[in-house]
Amino acid sequence: MSELIFMFFGETLVSVPLRQQLAVGSYLIKQKLKAVKKYPLVLMLEPLYRCNLACAGCGKIDHPDEILDKRLSVKECLDAVDECNAPMVSIPGGEPLIHKEMPEIVKGIIERKKFVYLCTNALLLKKKIKDYTPSPYLTFSIHLDGNKERHDTSVCQKGVFDIAVEAIKLTLSKGFRVTVNCTLFQGEKASEVAEFLDYVTELGVEGVTIAPGFSYEHAPQQDVFIKGKDVKDLFRGIFAIGKKRRWNLNHSSLYLDFLAGNQAYECTPWGNPTRNVFGWQKPCYLLADEGHVDTFQELLDTTPWEKYGNVNNEKCANCMAHCGYEATAVEDMLSNPLKALLVSVRGPKTEGDMVEVVAPAYVETNTTQSISDIPIKVES
Ligand code: SF4
Ligand code: SF4
Repeated sequence: MSELIFMFFGETLVSVPLRQQLAVGSYLIKQKLKAVKKYPLVLMLEPLYRCNLACAGCGKIDHPDEILDKRLSVKECLDAVDECNAPMVSIPGGEPLIHKEMPEIVKGIIERKKFVYLCTNALLLKKKIKDYTPSPYLTFSIHLDGNKERHDTSVCQKGVFDIAVEAIKLTLSKGFRVTVNCTLFQGEKASEVAEFLDYVTELGVEGVTIAPGFSYEHAPQQDVFIKGKDVKDLFRGIFAIGKKRRWNLNHSSLYLDFLAGNQAYECTPWGNPTRNVFGWQKPCYLLADEGHVDTFQELLDTTPWEKYGNVNNEKCANCMAHCGYEATAVEDMLSNPLKALLVSVRGPKTEGDMVEVVAPAYVETNTTQSISDIPIKVES
């Protein structure tokens, strides 16, 4: 067991405080010892869909007003935390700071000694920060999709980048843990992303979560998403520059290796189960039209998991999101610690062949689709 803990510490998330690494590491080991096949790593808790922005690539705000006006109560949120019992809770939205009872929800999660990531676009943070107390269990995860021009374009509103940066400085000055949540879209250049990562590192944030945007069917704009091999080329470019930098990316090294086209993964959607105003969402945080159930156990038992993933379902094409694949990478790390350690030490491979791809089952053989647009299924 101690070796597994050591590998977990040695391999992953160096920016995350030791207390959190220990708690998550021992949780993972317990699941292994109990031979649990499907366990949650991060609860995605969406207590509302209402937002004060309307970003081009958002898949959450396309609901009628009666849905946007719905809120999960404090009790519903804390019941979900207890029911799922994942060691980490991410609260996206909508914009969570709009929810009047959010401080009470966060307090209840902290009392349960779960690590909570409160995801916000930061527009309300200056006004609301007084309602929260710094804690090793609380991190503000600030939405920033790149440098000033890029972020303001992504959120479709000028001036948001500056407000977010001021909020980051204020929140850090008050002793809170702060990370940045960056989603990459069409037109990104590796050099610009690297410049952005340098900038937020200098601001003093604990780490950066970074991933390609998922092609939400309900997003206001459909031409903003990066797909297929373009994603892997972009990440290879970023990581090649990153070999000489000191960025703290809040991901396991094997997930980063996957983004760079070096790992053959299928998703683990139950790793980040989603509770929102409709119930527990099948199968994951990203697909909104597959149905909901009342309990977490029902989600585990009744979701036809085999119908999802980028090999089996066209809706999953091009998904490389961390809520689908980080849990896969962590599972791989536990099974292949030496491989994980080598990738961690050397960094993701940024040159040479990527893993071999074959067309998924739903792509017809006479398709004119470019191989770079076809989601991967790798023969390992
Ligand atoms: S991406 Fe986030 S900040 Fe933007 S509209 Fe959607 S919920 Fe709001
Ligand atoms: S690939 Fe997995 S995580 Fe991604 S949308 Fe499909 S089911 Fe969800």
